[in-house]
Amino acid sequence: MGYVDEVLELVSKRDANQPEFLQAVTEVLTTLRPVVEANEELYRKNAILERITEPDRAIQFRVPWVDDNGQVQVNRGFRVQFNNSIGPYKGGLRLHPSVNLSIIKFLGFEQVFKNSLTSLPIGGGKGGSDFDPKGKSDREIMAFCQSFMTELYKYIGADVDVPAGDIGVGGREIGFLYGQYKRITNLYEGVLTGKGLTYGGSLARTEATGYGLVYITEELLKDHGTDFNGKTVAVSGAGNVAIYAIEKVHQLGGKVVTCSDSTGWIYDPEGIDVDLLKEVKEVKRARLTAYAEARPSAQYTAKKDANDHGVWNVKVDVALPCATQNELNLDDAKALVANGVFAVCEGANMPTTIEATKYLTDNKVLFIPGKASNAGGVATSALEMSQNSERLHWSFDEVDEKLHGIMVNIYKNISSAAEKYATKDDFVAGANIAGFEKVVEAMLAQGVC
Ligand code: NDP
Repeated sequence: MGYVDEVLELVSKRDANQPEFLQAVTEVLTTLRPVVEANEELYRKNAILERITEPDRAIQFRVPWVDDNGQVQVNRGFRVQFNNSIGPYKGGLRLHPSVNLSIIKFLGFEQVFKNSLTSLPIGGGKGGSDFDPKGKSDREIMAFCQSFMTELYKYIGADVDVPAGDIGVGGREIGFLYGQYKRITNLYEGVLTGKGLTYGGSLARTEATGYGLVYITEELLKDHGTDFNGKTVAVSGAGNVAIYAIEKVHQLGGKVVTCSDSTGWIYDPEGIDVDLLKEVKEVKRARLTAYAEARPSAQYTAKKDANDHGVWNVKVDVALPCATQNELNLDDAKALVANGVFAVCEGANMPTTIEATKYLTDNKVLFIPGKASNAGGVATSALEMSQNSERLHWSFDEVDEKLHGIMVNIYKNISSAAEKYATKDDFVAGANIAGFEKVVEAMLAQGVC
């Protein structure tokens, strides 16, 4: 049995109850075969694959807080510090009822390779809680965030581990978390990114993941002789990543005709009105029914169940899944291919199942995985860290220009790794290999640790 298969078997046995983590490890290790086989003796002797699939540490803790009725509630908090070979741990915090150790480990594992791809000095980590922010008052959100940070602060720091936002964690939550960190430690340092502009945040961080996704997609289209002009695009999700992806596609001459949330989806043949979407989601924190009510051209469809991903049945040139993991399955991939989709680029983390990815790529659809295409968020977080260390603020255009350069560079790196080790345009292998090589070089240089 080859080294990759041995380690896959080991991880499958050890973490048999962690399906999302196993899915991510399988996807990554399988595509690393060519580079692992070329260095098998060295990697095996140094247990590189065993080490890279085991987090440095996984912290789990109780988060007690008091709701508006005076009732004590208890949630579970996590921080997985996966690998700090190339820099301090870096990765978001997710607040969603589905959060468990498997999901946080899958996200932390993916983050290691993604952060490496940005070419910036950041290691990989991820955290969160099964707390559901939906329907909570501002005071309840603050109570939860303060309690969460009262435990988390022990494990993080500007040069140790720098969390950021993810699903359910935006500017409001980062503010409450930062306030509590400062209060406990008396340190005013860049311990979190995604901060507000008045207390160390970076211009363009809010837009970065969505804009970055569209910049790399634009580069992909350019490399294949076309661009966004006149293209029809499907986006899923209606959160931070989706909103700014839609905004940038429109700026580049494309038309986004869909978006979705966990209860339903919108088809708007006139193109999504991004200002209205921001008003509904960022200001009113309402459901998409409010968008449809305010926009005569929009059709709203309620989801029948969790597997109802109607957005992928619309005929489009480009699909950008921007909601959550496993939201584009084999049936969805078949529908996209039948409708002639040209490219699928992931805004969310692992939104496409392994079977769906295979179907898309077997059918010659250009496909960029999230660890490359949504890396603009964490890259801009690293730029926020740089500004915090310098105690300076850069302009929006300066950050946006750097983000653009980083995404173009990621495209070039994954594209050339694909050509060197796999086949042209195999960006899944290209992203995994390009991200892996740098981390492994650092691990080998730092000895057994
Ligand atoms: P948000 O919380 O801002 O938005 C998430 C969106 O996806 C919402 O519209 C939400 O709908 C929908 N959604 C969430 N869970 C589900 C589900 N189980 N089924 C259907 N829809 C769902 O999160 P972000 O936009 O920040 O993150 C989206 C994705 O992008 C995640 O995978 C995240 O890990 C990834 N990502 C985010 C980065 C960032 O900078 N924000 C950086 C890199 C990756 P509803 O409101 O109804 O729950």
